[in-house]
Amino acid sequence: MGTFSPLCDMIMEADKSNYTAKRTNKIYKQTPHHTAGVLTAAQIARIFQNPSRNASCNYGIGNDGKIVGIVPEESRAWTSSSPSNDHQAITYEVANDQNGGEWHVSDRAINRLIDLMVDVQKRNPNTTHYVYDGTSKGTITRHDMFANTTCPGPYLASKLAWITEQVNARIASGTEPTPAPAPSPIAGGRHVGDVVTITGIFVSSTSTNRLTPSRTSGTITRIIEGAKNPYLLDNGNLGWTNDGCIVDSSQPAPNPTPSTTGTTYTVKAGDCLSVIGEKFGVNWKDIASLNEIHSPYTIFKGQVLQIPSQYKPTLKSDEEICAEVWAGKWGTGADRIYKLTQAGYNASHIQNLVNQGVGKSGSSSTNSNSSKSALDIAKEIWYNGKYGTGNERKKKVESMGYNYSEVQNYVNQLASGKIK
Ligand SMILES: [Zn+2]
Repeated sequence: MGTFSPLCDMIMEADKSNYTAKRTNKIYKQTPHHTAGVLTAAQIARIFQNPSRNASCNYGIGNDGKIVGIVPEESRAWTSSSPSNDHQAITYEVANDQNGGEWHVSDRAINRLIDLMVDVQKRNPNTTHYVYDGTSKGTITRHDMFANTTCPGPYLASKLAWITEQVNARIASGTEPTPAPAPSPIAGGRHVGDVVTITGIFVSSTSTNRLTPSRTSGTITRIIEGAKNPYLLDNGNLGWTNDGCIVDSSQPAPNPTPSTTGTTYTVKAGDCLSVIGEKFGVNWKDIASLNEIHSPYTIFKGQVLQIPSQYKPTLKSDEEICAEVWAGKWGTGADRIYKLTQAGYNASHIQNLVNQGVGKSGSSSTNSNSSKSALDIAKEIWYNGKYGTGNERKKKVESMGYNYSEVQNYVNQLASGKIK
């Protein structure tokens, strides 16, 4: 294993096809990115374990405040769309604590980032004072200096000058980075990003009308301190809840055994059945029934679960999935990649199709025509009088995704009898 910071809470290396084994420069720079999604450290790392991802980062910092080592420091991660930057830089993917908007990042994640940046400098003291001047010549750089991207998002971008100051001050004073924090308690002390199991849900933070939730687990995406129902789950897709409706898994199993690969899994703090199901690509209800767990589906840290092995997910067609992506069902950015990958799809393949407009609503005519060649279209024009003439024809043909001059060339050849 290569070099990783001692501040890491875990190491989950990227697939080797997603980075360059040896960097060609010393480490002079640091480049913080955002994940464009509310992700834990482990979720960030799993994205880059997909061999078709063609991207990576040296470190991930989750919304759970954890640091994960992903690409060793002697290797060049593929993060910033700039080989020359990334050969000189340690790169970070920092999770958001809010989807969309200004792509907010929690203070907790930013503080871990600063700790890690100081530690990287301490072990690679090639730069003694970082410069963030808003250009790629600086030693603190941004992804959007090299590519047409919104990364690192408005919020993290607005904090970079301050982060640079903090890092420089810590280097100058020789302050040791703070060690990794103790795991947060399971009961109470909830954070944005925590996955919780619930028995009740409310339509607002102030409602007293407790409803049966449509799903029994969700992620806290917002907290209003002191509210009657302080926790917003899944950005409102699930609703609001409170401590009384959250099932805490605080009772340890009497005899925890380590998990083995494939067939069993040891429950960790904050786990719930649906998350474990996602991990294994298994319906969580199948795990529940195999382990005789009944509503409200309480599981305990340290509990060893049998995982059904014969389950094979039924995958939808590329077109169906693309349509769902356009409909917003699969989120955006790293979140989308993670969800697609977890569901068993090739995320970069789907993204390519989406970029080509596959599945976009209102483009059904495009899709039904996509199997036709330019010659087919020319024949429809010549023999059937379709698509009008002149500019109107040009517009229609181009809106269907064809090269107008190629089509028109065929029409001319049909007209002259050169082809039939
Ligand atoms: Zn980026």
